[in-house]
Amino acid sequence: MGTSIAAVAQLLLIEDDPTIRANIMRALTERGHAVSSTPTAMAGLQTALAERPDLVLLDLGLPDMDGTDLLRMLRAVSSVPVIVTTARDDEAVITAVLDAGADDYVVKPFGAAQLDARIRAVLRRGATDTAAQPLVVGELRVDPRSREADLAGRRLELTPKEFDLLHYLAARPGEVVTRRELLTEVWQVPYGGADKTVDVHLSWLRRKLDESAQQPRYLHTVRGVGVKLVAPAGS
Ligand code: CA
Repeated sequence: MGTSIAAVAQLLLIEDDPTIRANIMRALTERGHAVSSTPTAMAGLQTALAERPDLVLLDLGLPDMDGTDLLRMLRAVSSVPVIVTTARDDEAVITAVLDAGADDYVVKPFGAAQLDARIRAVLRRGATDTAAQPLVVGELRVDPRSREADLAGRRLELTPKEFDLLHYLAARPGEVVTRRELLTEVWQVPYGGADKTVDVHLSWLRRKLDESAQQPRYLHTVRGVGVKLVAPAGS
């Protein structure tokens, strides 16, 4: 699943000061990131498009172009997360870079630990966005943004809880999910006991998917354990 952050983030540092550049590269490499760097805005733009980094660290004071202008150019063609590094702790400057599409900023001088924490926070947010992508299992398509689900191109008329249940299972294809987990995660009920809520909703969901517990296609009960959603063979 695309919900986890890659172990090594590929970073691009656009910074003209050679000392700052070397210090940031060393600190981030020590913290497990892969870092490439460019000293100018235009080289940075080209590298960002060629290497498709996970995140860009952008200095505002560059020799060939203002970093805010570079940010606008980058935003026209890419949604890569950007953290601005600036020597200007100035309300107007910071407002301008956030409005231009920066995800965060750090004011120089900053410590490596703070920079690394901000990088990880921005990458986590990106991972959450990935989790909102439509899920496809066989001919089933579940879109969490529009909260619509389709089976073989046919829209499924689902109640909000049925949708949540289907989405939770579709995010874990082939994985057996227990009733207790569903009650906790989908219904936010801490303890299920003998609650039949999950079974009732599963049976409604099966009907809408044109299948039954006896002849399952997508929703398979694993006796005494829970349920899993799988793509039917041949789909
Ligand atoms: Ca600079």
